[in-house]
Amino acid sequence: MNLKNNNIDDELGNSHIATTANTPLRKDAFKLSDENKIKEIEKNIANILHTLGMDLTDDSIKGTPKRVAKAYVKELFRGLNPKNKPAASTFNNNYKYEEMLVEKNITVYSTCEHHLLPIVGKAHIAYLSNDKVIGLSKMNRIVDYYAKRPQVQERLTMQVVEELKNVLGTEDVACVIDAKHLCVNSRGIKDISSSTITAAYGGKFKQESIKQEFLKYIQIETNFQ
Ligand SMILES: [Zn+2]
Repeated sequence: MNLKNNNIDDELGNSHIATTANTPLRKDAFKLSDENKIKEIEKNIANILHTLGMDLTDDSIKGTPKRVAKAYVKELFRGLNPKNKPAASTFNNNYKYEEMLVEKNITVYSTCEHHLLPIVGKAHIAYLSNDKVIGLSKMNRIVDYYAKRPQVQERLTMQVVEELKNVLGTEDVACVIDAKHLCVNSRGIKDISSSTITAAYGGKFKQESIKQEFLKYIQIETNFQ
């Protein structure tokens, strides 16, 4: 790393500024198999723990490097790999539903790419259907796929909207995410009560009345218990 840029990198990270809408992946990102990635990461996690002074022969943590490596590749960062992208199945809008469809309170578990700490929150998605509709759980899967990467919340919001535009063949898609960043809540400024809201509006959702309709729906409290 260029030492001169250290302060700038720190500032960029702490301010959580996203520099592009695409996840910055290298061209050779998938040259290694998942199994080989797990082996490499396991060695590196062991090195981190060893450097910190931990005794890796202790029963409690001797399995940690492998557990962490598996969790990175198979769970927390599985959404980096296009092979894990949810299949794009849509249905014809045979019942001619023409109003807004809103899927709210979709659980978001992601990881901040600046500190590798959790981002936990809710996503709310809406679209205006033209010819195609999408299975409801598909929206949860799309959010989860893009969340399972080193992320910034702004990019996650935009990526969800872009994917839904592609799948549904319409610009009329919106997404709002409200999430807590553990890098803000547990370190640095240690503000446990703040959350971050991001939004992306496509097509007709840029119109104030449509946007307000969506925002009104996501405030409705759903209580079935
Ligand atoms: Zn962070």
